Amino acid sequence: MWYRDHEILYTTSCGSITMGRVICIVNQKGGVGKTTTSVNLASCIALAEKSSLLIDLDPQANASSGLGIRLSAGEPSVYDLLLSREVHQRIIRRTALDCLDILPASQDLIGAEIEFVSLESRERMLSTALETIRPLYDYIFIDCPPSLGFLTLNAMVAADSALIPVQCEYYALEGVGNLLKTIRRVQSAFNHSLEIEGFLLTMFDPRNNLSHQVVADVQDHFSSQVFDSIIPRNVRLSESPSFGKPVVLYDITSSGALRYMSLSQEIMNAEGERDGEKAYSIGARS
Ligand code: ATP
Ligand code: MG
Repeated sequence: MWYRDHEILYTTSCGSITMGRVICIVNQKGGVGKTTTSVNLASCIALAEKSSLLIDLDPQANASSGLGIRLSAGEPSVYDLLLSREVHQRIIRRTALDCLDILPASQDLIGAEIEFVSLESRERMLSTALETIRPLYDYIFIDCPPSLGFLTLNAMVAADSALIPVQCEYYALEGVGNLLKTIRRVQSAFNHSLEIEGFLLTMFDPRNNLSHQVVADVQDHFSSQVFDSIIPRNVRLSESPSFGKPVVLYDITSSGALRYMSLSQEIMNAEGERDGEKAYSIGARS
């Protein structure tokens, strides 16, 4: 298989002629489902034959291993892309899904914040690196680490939108205020067009009253910005990464797979509506 042989990619999986929509999956709180969402959302969108790239921007490299990629020392990673030390064709790899590629992470990223401190425009390193990659994909997802540091800032500066997973548990909204403040700062200082893609409720347990309470609170706070698709707590979602597979290749009939499919549909529909509005406003002007 491609990724097991550590083959290097010279062409992308599915041809694309549009500018990819870049969505960062962000929440500084740990363990809320960022990586599970990144891997499975990107996979479901790829199943719909939209060419997709998943960028693993977390030194933990969980998105990479979740898709069966573990880099050996010295193999090029997203770290080399940020430094423009390596061309993207030598870093991006194919996955078991035809339309999904991955830009894997390595532990080199751990030191990036300190190493890059004196570089100019260091918050735009990813955005600059993506200029040549964006036209190759319909969708690009960025899995962020659990912090609001340099790497997450780079993701927000490069992205069109932020998708915010919120775990259905006690203190679910803890830290979301700070996250929204950070997004507003990024909007005014670096990226005026950064939008909120939506809030995603994760690890919902229908037998737990608290889960229902969190859903009601989040819907109350953020109303139409909350995705209709709610991700259930599902053991298949937690098992599939240890097989290096997205859940759709592990158990496509599981409730987790079905919900991530419906989330991917919501995101593609929203994009369709945005394109329709753009076409309408251009038509109305001419
Ligand atoms: P980190 O902040 O460390 O990067 P994260 O926000 O990326 O964490 P995940 O790694 O996606 O969170 O999930 C944390 C743990 O919860 C993992 O073990 C994952 O397998 C499990 N998990 C995530 N979502 C679900 C779910 N819907 N059902 C069951 N387990 C889940
Ligand atoms: Mg993660």
